[in-house]
Amino acid sequence: MSITGDDPRADPLDGALDPRRARPHPSRFPPDAPGYDEALRRHRVAIDEGDPGYLDPVSGLFVLTAAHHADRGTCCEQGCRHCPYIWDRPDAALEAIPASEQTLVSDDDHRIAVQVAHTTGVMLVALRTELTGRGVHPFTVRDEGDRLAHHHIIDALALARSGDHVLSEEGYPDPARLLARRVWIVDPLDGTREYGIPGRPDWAVHIALTVDGRPAAGAVALPAMGLVFGTSPAHATPERPDGRPLRIACSRTHPAGAAVYVARKLDGELVPIGSAGAKAMAVVMGDCDAYIHHGGQYEWDSCAPAAVAAAAGMHTSRLDGSPLRYNRPDPWLPDLLICRPELAEPILDLVLNG
Ligand SMILES: [Mg+2]
Repeated sequence: MSITGDDPRADPLDGALDPRRARPHPSRFPPDAPGYDEALRRHRVAIDEGDPGYLDPVSGLFVLTAAHHADRGTCCEQGCRHCPYIWDRPDAALEAIPASEQTLVSDDDHRIAVQVAHTTGVMLVALRTELTGRGVHPFTVRDEGDRLAHHHIIDALALARSGDHVLSEEGYPDPARLLARRVWIVDPLDGTREYGIPGRPDWAVHIALTVDGRPAAGAVALPAMGLVFGTSPAHATPERPDGRPLRIACSRTHPAGAAVYVARKLDGELVPIGSAGAKAMAVVMGDCDAYIHHGGQYEWDSCAPAAVAAAAGMHTSRLDGSPLRYNRPDPWLPDLLICRPELAEPILDLVLNG
């Protein structure tokens, strides 16, 4: 085995190597660990040479490669650095985040939001496929989706952030959250009605962290589309096609009067979409220019979408232009504007002054 000198295979992520074999899971060996780059180089060389392991450059201990574990075919549950099976565990990345490392907002909060939204979405897609395939009534599909998603999110956040409070649409609102600075506000399944309709893609998973009542990190998953939007890294502000009429996302079943009014005044068109998350992400992706809502929503409906949209450079506010505030005693938050920044002033002017 050759582990010294300049090797053209030094980049451990090059070539056609399966990422799970090329890179250890960050919960087992974080990229900022001493000797990380050299360890990965030695790992790659060992795989290419067909060796079962390599000597760790810091400790000198012999470390088995991911290829060796994979060829063995089973996980030994010993916490091996290069265990390839850990990548398949939905909450693996959440295992090794000590509470002492938690700050008011950290990079891990953004990552946790994305991962929990993603894993919840994967489970919801599988559940819907199974239940609709068995001919289960849509009402039951909805209920089972709400239940499964809520419990998964609560368990995942308890594992990753045991000191934080959670306000969930499907949970009992613990009043102690009102005294906490960090509160996760989640809608396990936004667009429940659409989730119960086979083939409809406009439903979402909302995961948001608020600090002192302000969205600080978050993610919105559109699982039926295979999409997850986070706050860091954020989605790039989309270009707007020249000459396209203004497109305003609105409720599929109850379009807001303000949306209808603004569309008429600005020669725009209404785009009915189910799920607040799906509507907000339509703006983030550039498919729509604005999302206007009033008439009833709760904090979990808008918190994650607003966090993601703001991170993507969009304007977010109440319809009177005031900031969105969360984790209040009453989670009722009836109106919302998410739009391209250049549209905020004309839309708010129309809404407020006619
Ligand atoms: Mg819901």
